Amino acid sequence: MSNLNHTITEKFQCTVKENDYFNKNILDQLAKLQEVAAKLNKNIIRACTYCGCIEINANNKLYSYNEDINLDMIKLLDPHHISGELCEDCKDRIEKDLGSCLYYLACISNSFDLKLNDVLLKEIDKINLLGKFNIE
Ligand SMILES: [Zn+2]
Repeated sequence: MSNLNHTITEKFQCTVKENDYFNKNILDQLAKLQEVAAKLNKNIIRACTYCGCIEINANNKLYSYNEDINLDMIKLLDPHHISGELCEDCKDRIEKDLGSCLYYLACISNSFDLKLNDVLLKEIDKINLLGKFNIE
């Protein structure tokens, strides 16, 4: 990860820490993270069902893990089970929801004096190490 990303991650976490007066309780932070994640789900579903700017092909069973499937073959298939493109309104909603998720992840990290940058670096290492077997 570049130094620029490192700086942005640290700056974000510090900004959250300096400006967060109302979410100091870890139980509140956990509840809020669940709340904003649910809102993210709702707005993605809304983009498909209410707005209609995207379509989700939920019938493609190749996207669920199955030991009979050669994982290398999946790379050759069309990976886009989402068709269409988010309209500006839906894109704005989903970006705000993702930002809220990041905000509460930063709050939780701050509560335990964990650095989001370290978390990201460990996750990158895990992805690179496990590659296609990184399925949970
Ligand atoms: Zn839309």
